[in-house]
Amino acid sequence: MSVLVATNIFLSALTLFVQFLPSTYFSPIMIIIIGAGVVGASLAFQLARAGVPVKVIDAGRIAGGTSASSFAWVNSHDKTPRIYHDLNVAGMHAHRTLRSQFAAAPWWHEGGTIEWRAGDPARYRQKIADLQSWGYVAQWLDPHQLRELAPDLNQAAVGDAPVAFFPEEAWIDPVVYSHYLLTDAREHGAQVVTHQAVIEIRQQGHKVVGLRTADGTLHDADIVVNCTGRYADQAAIPPILRIPMTPTAGLLLFTPPLAHGLRQILYTPQVHIRPDGAGRLLICRNELEVAADAQFHARSPEVLALLAAAREVLPLLRDVEPEVLRVGVRAIPADQLPAIGPSPGIGGYYSAITHSGVTLAPYIAELIVDEIVHQRPRLELTPFRPQRFFV
Ligand SMILES: Cc1cc2nc3c(=O)[nH]c(=O)nc-3n(C[C@H](O)[C@H](O)[C@H](O)COP(=O)(O)OP(=O)(O)OC[C@H]3O[C@@H](n4cnc5c(N)ncnc54)[C@H](O)[C@@H]3O)c2cc1C
Repeated sequence: MSVLVATNIFLSALTLFVQFLPSTYFSPIMIIIIGAGVVGASLAFQLARAGVPVKVIDAGRIAGGTSASSFAWVNSHDKTPRIYHDLNVAGMHAHRTLRSQFAAAPWWHEGGTIEWRAGDPARYRQKIADLQSWGYVAQWLDPHQLRELAPDLNQAAVGDAPVAFFPEEAWIDPVVYSHYLLTDAREHGAQVVTHQAVIEIRQQGHKVVGLRTADGTLHDADIVVNCTGRYADQAAIPPILRIPMTPTAGLLLFTPPLAHGLRQILYTPQVHIRPDGAGRLLICRNELEVAADAQFHARSPEVLALLAAAREVLPLLRDVEPEVLRVGVRAIPADQLPAIGPSPGIGGYYSAITHSGVTLAPYIAELIVDEIVHQRPRLELTPFRPQRFFV
């Protein structure tokens, strides 16, 4: 371990100790989470189950932000550097552990991912070999296996590209997920306040002591956790606590219910498709970036191009029109990596802002509980500290 890394870890530990120990040591702490998306809901669930008094406040409805407009694929497929890949793999495992804690987990959908790529097959084979060498489960499918697994798929669209299968990947319904976790949190004593915007973070000296909501109510807290996703740089947050963001937006197209047998996520060169419940399919393309405030309709060129690509892969879509179009805005910190941890120089405040939040939420919630309740700094978070934005 280099001196720099060791120093970083020591400083992280010291920051956590100094910022959270005094209040947690002498009285039961009150933690307020701003934001009831997948990240805030996951944290509230873990805190409430740990017996910590917690209040969740959201300006709108539960998971009505980015979480409601997500492809919601639980994976660690294309995540670099290695440390970020490992964090996502831990997220995949945490999802399975979490779902086993519920008698029913209607948000959880297994089936794996089928992928092929355009371009150099040797390069793709190397990518899969690299993933496998990291312990990631990936298999090759021959045309017969592909037909067995996804009979609706047009094999001609694949051509002679090598096809990989990732059996441990899944997708979730983020709103259902958040609702279940917050319902459980309430049963364990959490308060959940919706349709109430936080308009001010209250500070005394170098410590956050609570916040104010739009109805004028003052809420006291020992620790405020910012789970506002793409809004982590909004005006209600003092500049020294804001996370610099570079959000991008994606277009999601939902079909009407269709008679199909697709159970997998299809990750193809031109389009990404997955089931979305009740026979609906969700169609998007990760690389297609749109304006966050763009308005789309069934004849928009982007929609027609997505549908054409999807029809090539799944001919059953040939006469299908989109039922709903949605634009989702990604919660991406300025350097693309998560921002999780306290802010330098200010006590009682913690940020949990990340893209890939659907995959990561249950795991980062566990890490955060360890840090702010048990004062156990988690080394997994060392590269993702917000303080990197403030040096
Ligand atoms: C098109 C698209 C595709 C994606 N695909 C995937 C994927 O396949 N896999 C994956 O893992 N991730 C994916 N993501 C990313 C993932 O959806 C997000 O990282 C995740 O939903 C973020 O959740 P969150 O809880 O942090 O934010 P949000 O769901 O946005 O929740 C934040 C909440 O904070 C509330 N809030 C904000 N300001 C205030 C305030 N002042 N007062 C009170 N409340 C406030 C908002 O109302 C909102 O409900 C995708 C995102 C997009 C847009």
